[in-house]
Amino acid sequence: MKNDCIFCAIAAGEIPSFKIYEDETVLAYLDINPFSTGHTLVIPKVHTGCLLDTPDETIAAIMSRVKKIAAHIKTALPCDGFNILQNNGEAAGQTVKHVHFHIVPRNGSGGLGFENHAGDMQALEELAGRLRMK
Ligand code: 5GP
Ligand code: ZN
Repeated sequence: MKNDCIFCAIAAGEIPSFKIYEDETVLAYLDINPFSTGHTLVIPKVHTGCLLDTPDETIAAIMSRVKKIAAHIKTALPCDGFNILQNNGEAAGQTVKHVHFHIVPRNGSGGLGFENHAGDMQALEELAGRLRMK
């Protein structure tokens, strides 16, 4: 791992991920300890630490993909709604210092609750196969 960043290693294919979308700028994959079924992370392929370090053009590119991927998940999963979450700094719960956006599918009237659950790797692999965008 060249810079000790786990998300850079995922972007470089050095660490496997349950990928659902990729283009020249961003990568999206399932969170291994999801808040809910279909919880997805969207990252820029080029490392930046948090929102404030990230160039405006990169943020614009990521957000357009977040919208597209969330629309796909809402239909393909399906789910009733979703949260977009983006943590900056330890005080805000940022544990991986490579900027990322969470897409958290929601159903019913569950409201806001952000608690990681141990991921079932086989279930995640099957789900990624079902959600993968062509
Ligand atoms: P943060 O709290 O930094 O906003 O979110 C980091 C997220 O990354 C957490 O929800 C955590 O479960 C997820 N995560 C940490 N390591 C890995 C990994 O190696 N692969 C995947 N897919 N997700 C990870
Ligand atoms: Zn990184």
